[in-house]
Amino acid sequence: MRFEDLSFAEKIHNLQKFHKSLNKNLFNGELSNVMMDIRNLKNADPCFAVFHPGAILFDLNFYDLMDSCATQKKQACCAAQIILHEMIHQYIHEKGLKDSSDHGTVFQREAEAHGLHSIYENECIKEERLTLIGCVAIENFRFTGKK
Ligand SMILES: [Zn+2]
Repeated sequence: MRFEDLSFAEKIHNLQKFHKSLNKNLFNGELSNVMMDIRNLKNADPCFAVFHPGAILFDLNFYDLMDSCATQKKQACCAAQIILHEMIHQYIHEKGLKDSSDHGTVFQREAEAHGLHSIYENECIKEERLTLIGCVAIENFRFTGKK
């Protein structure tokens, strides 16, 4: 199904399903479950989601991103990549790793090790895409409803 055709509860359920699967396949199941929500984050940055300890929160602009995806597969891939990025923050937090900045050398190293090629310069994103292991981990991801 397309993301916009799901109920709000189904949207959240699907995002959590992606988190669970990524945790199993790319983090050896080491990460905790997190609460997820989509709400107005009132962010100055044009980012789609944030990690807070215990939660991954999506901004309302995530709806626009999903609308802009031509196919169901593209929607699932985009959502998975955003969740994976936040899971790298979660991993660094839960492992107690120290980084020079939010997306410093530790973030970029751990991202690469967990399926995400993520390059930042001076906290500005330069490049981000799934690596081969990231692509393999999400290739069957789709949003599914109750029907
Ligand atoms: Zn980030």
